[in-house]
Amino acid sequence: MIKFLDLEKVNNRFRKETDERIAKILDKGWYLQGEENETFSRHFAEYCGAKYCVGVANGLDALNLIIKAYGFGPGDEIIVPANTYIASILAISENGCTPVLVEPDINTYNINPDLIEEKITEKTKAIMVVHLYGQAVQMSKIWELAKKHNLKIIEDSAQAHGAIYQGKRTGNLGDASAFSFYPGKNLGCLGDGGCVTTNDEELFNKVKAIANYGSDRKYHHIYKGVNSRLDEIQAAVLDIKLKYLDADNERRRQISKYYRDNIVNPKIILPKTYDEKSHVWHIFAVRTENRDKLQKYLEDNGIQTNIHYPTPPHKQGAYKEWKDLSFPISEEIHRTILSLPMSPVLTDYEVEKIERIINKY
Ligand SMILES: *Cc1c(COP(=O)(O)O)cnc(C)c1O
Repeated sequence: MIKFLDLEKVNNRFRKETDERIAKILDKGWYLQGEENETFSRHFAEYCGAKYCVGVANGLDALNLIIKAYGFGPGDEIIVPANTYIASILAISENGCTPVLVEPDINTYNINPDLIEEKITEKTKAIMVVHLYGQAVQMSKIWELAKKHNLKIIEDSAQAHGAIYQGKRTGNLGDASAFSFYPGKNLGCLGDGGCVTTNDEELFNKVKAIANYGSDRKYHHIYKGVNSRLDEIQAAVLDIKLKYLDADNERRRQISKYYRDNIVNPKIILPKTYDEKSHVWHIFAVRTENRDKLQKYLEDNGIQTNIHYPTPPHKQGAYKEWKDLSFPISEEIHRTILSLPMSPVLTDYEVEKIERIINKY
C-alpha cells in the first residue's frame, strides 16, 4: 500500500539529530518557555521574513490569539473563504465575531479576490486569507482592499510554510499570520504546535502575553489570558526540520510537476498554479465527477488517498444557522475533490506507479 502520508518515514530521516536534541532537553530539565522556543521562533521569523514569531500550542490557537489580540469581538465581521478547513472559521466564531464566507476561485481553490469587496460592511474588521493546499493567495488586490477599507489581513498559513508570493513568504503577506505545526503539515512537529508571525511589535507582545496567562512578566497579569505555548521538545524538533523545509518543498514541487505533466486521464481535473514558487503542495487535490469511485479504485490498487474536505463548513452541524446558504463553487469542490499521496518521502517508483494507475482508470 502506498500511504497517503508516511509520517514515520518523514520524521525518522532526522532521527539521530532529534534523539540528541531531546536528550539535551532531558539533561537540562527545562520544558517550557526556554532556549529551544526562543531559538526556533527567531529562526522561523527569519525564514518567513517577518520581524517576530511567537510559538503557541497549535494552529487554531494561533488564529484565535491574533483575533483576540486585535480585540475583535461580537458585532465585528471577518471575511474568510467558504471552502477553508473549519479551523479558520472556528477561530472567528470563538471570539464572538461573525464569519462572512466568500467563494473561492475554482482554479486556485483560494478565496476569489474579486468577490471580497461586495461583502465589506462598516462592521468588517479583517480579511482572513487561507493559503489553501499550500498555494499562496494572490494578494495584490487584497492588499488594496485592506488599505482602502482600513482592514487587517490575517493569514491562515497552516498549509503553506514557505510558499512565496511576489518574493515574500507566507507569514509576511499580511498583518499577522497563523501557522500550524500539526504532524502532517509541511513543517510538522511530534504532536501539536503552532505560531504567530507578524511585523507589528505591539501585536507580537500582546499575543505573547495572552498566550501565557495574560502575563508580560511572572505573576503580573495584564490580560485575561489563556495557556497556549509551544513546548521545548516540539520547538527543538521544528528547529531541526526547518533546515530541511526548502528541500522538502522542492521535492513536493517535483512530484506535483510529475503528476501534472503525466496524468492525462480526461476524467481527472488537475490542480493549477499561477507560479511554481507560490505553491508548496501541502495537498495535491484533483477533481473528478465520481470521486468515491476513483477513491475506491485507487484503494483497490494499493493507493491511499484522502478528502480535503468532504463537507463544506456551511453544511456542518456546528453551523446549523448556515444550512440554507448556498456556495455553489465550494460545494462543487467539496463534492469532487480527492487528494493524492503527496510528501517529500514518496519515491519516484511510487509516484510513477500512482500516475500509471490513474491513467488506467
Ligand atoms: C491544520 C489547519 C489549521 C489548524 O491547525 P491545528 O494545529 O490543527 O490547530 C488551521 N487552518 C488550516 C487551513 C489548517 O489546515
